[in-house]
Amino acid sequence: MQVCYKHAEKPNAKSCPFCSKDYCEDCLLLVGKRKTVICKDCYTFLSNKIKKSNIRRYIYLLLGVIWLVLILVNFSNYFLLESPNATIFILLGVGILYSITVNIIRLIQYRSWNVIESYTKTIKLEVQD
Ligand SMILES: [Zn+2]
Ligand SMILES: [Zn+2]
Repeated sequence: MQVCYKHAEKPNAKSCPFCSKDYCEDCLLLVGKRKTVICKDCYTFLSNKIKKSNIRRYIYLLLGVIWLVLILVNFSNYFLLESPNATIFILLGVGILYSITVNIIRLIQYRSWNVIESYTKTIKLEVQD
């Protein structure tokens, strides 16, 4: 019999796709809208990592917006004067827009990481249906 990595007395329900260890129902969680199976250790580890990266992403977003405003304000001046700097400003602007988009997508994706469900609860619900 396969047993839980943490509870030698309990049979394993599923292996965690992140650390590929076998766990019992009590050690597993379902995370996000897609209800991805994850063990509690990996959830704690990954959500801490995501929280840290989210802070960084908010700072990038803020800086990106500030940069973009500065570029747009100066861009009209440079563009009207047909300055050779206009190309640099366009490239910078495109780069910053891209970075803002990527960071917003990631922040939206990781928002569902706060939504967790107990693995056992879902199993019981499935049995009832
Ligand atoms: Zn795991
Ligand atoms: Zn367990």
